[in-house]
Amino acid sequence: MNEDFSVELRLPKGCPNCGSHKVTVSQAQKPDDRVFCSSCNTEIGDYQTAKQMLDEMPRSENEQLIEDVVNNRKPSSTEE
Ligand SMILES: [Zn+2]
Repeated sequence: MNEDFSVELRLPKGCPNCGSHKVTVSQAQKPDDRVFCSSCNTEIGDYQTAKQMLDEMPRSENEQLIEDVVNNRKPSSTEE
């Protein structure tokens, strides 16, 4: 059995060398696992950092939702 499996991720930030958003990380996905660009094999960083980038994506969507809620709560005083 070949245990050298790896998984591909898509990061919001592109590779500093070739701009590709596809990266490869070992299947174990431990925080200190190295993350490499799938295209040119440049080391992007560790999995912890990559995961942080991924976690930041949905957060901006949440901020948008919070903004909508705030806007709904604020009464628009167009008519008095
Ligand atoms: Zn690259």
